[in-house]
Amino acid sequence: MSKVLLISTGGTITMVRDKVSGALVPADMETFKAFMPELFEGSIHVDIQAFSPLLDSSDVNPDCWVRMAKMVYDHYDEYDGFVILHGTDTMSYSASALSFMLENLSKPVVFTGSQLPVGVLRSDAKENLLTAIEIAAAQDEEGNAIVPEVTIYFEDRLFRANRTTKRNAEHFSAFNSYNYPALAKAGVHITYQPHLVHYSDPNAPLRLHTSFDCNVAVLKLFPGIQQPVVRALLRTRGLKGVVLETFGAGNAPTDKWLYRELKSAVDKGIVIVNKTQCNTGSVEMGLYAVSLNLMKAGVLSGHDITTEALLTKMMLLFGENPEDTAKVRELLGKDLCGELTID
Ligand code: ASP
Repeated sequence: MSKVLLISTGGTITMVRDKVSGALVPADMETFKAFMPELFEGSIHVDIQAFSPLLDSSDVNPDCWVRMAKMVYDHYDEYDGFVILHGTDTMSYSASALSFMLENLSKPVVFTGSQLPVGVLRSDAKENLLTAIEIAAAQDEEGNAIVPEVTIYFEDRLFRANRTTKRNAEHFSAFNSYNYPALAKAGVHITYQPHLVHYSDPNAPLRLHTSFDCNVAVLKLFPGIQQPVVRALLRTRGLKGVVLETFGAGNAPTDKWLYRELKSAVDKGIVIVNKTQCNTGSVEMGLYAVSLNLMKAGVLSGHDITTEALLTKMMLLFGENPEDTAKVRELLGKDLCGELTID
């Protein structure tokens, strides 16, 4: 019998309506289990470990990522796969973080949740969770996991975690992977796309990385952005890395002050990475003249990475290499576990 460890951190899937405020709040795992008897009736053995208290994902932070990743790491040999229940709001951040923390992963770690709580009649909770468990346990004829990656399963799609973004606060298809195709689609059958899966070296042991440095920021450009705003952010004490959200193929205003602010930040050792504000497509510095200044200032290309993946990758690289900015710059330009496409 396959064995899956279900790690519950909270999220809407575990929530009930508070009688006083009327707002949704995480309940407890006993209440949740009472709504999900199917968990223990199928052909897959499921054990549960839960955060206490359960969290709305707006309260999930890097310490929580470490707790989740350690739960996987500590029980790695006991289970065929892992499912992590998580609120949808920050799921793409947590799942991206775990994809970098669990190096050489050879078993599935599937994040899921729901848009409606498990106890609500039209809830998407059961389908999401039961299919995620099936995917976490899925193996080929040789007994190897079919999707040994950190993924997000939602509605009817399985995505590589570090390619996802929450795109919808209303519909059941809450996530999309704009720059990479789905790894599986679930209908009557689950159809996997093995040629799209990222496989680690099967002989390399699982390595856990847990040091984060949160001294990073996102700077979103807009027409009319003022120098004092940019200066204040780039001169923040202790700042190590910046995700610079640019226009189109990685373009920015050509104001001389912007070039000077960016260049002086890079010269001080701050790592700045160019990430397009477009969901689909890639940064291509040098395509337009309006990106040449960014290159001259020493801004790196983020290629087609998501903001969620870039931020969490940066935080982990700074945490793991505190004295080595050159190494951080080098690894930011590399594809570590399928998070970016280098043309
Ligand atoms: N606020 C909830 C959370 O992220 C939303 C959800 O789970 O869909 O925990």
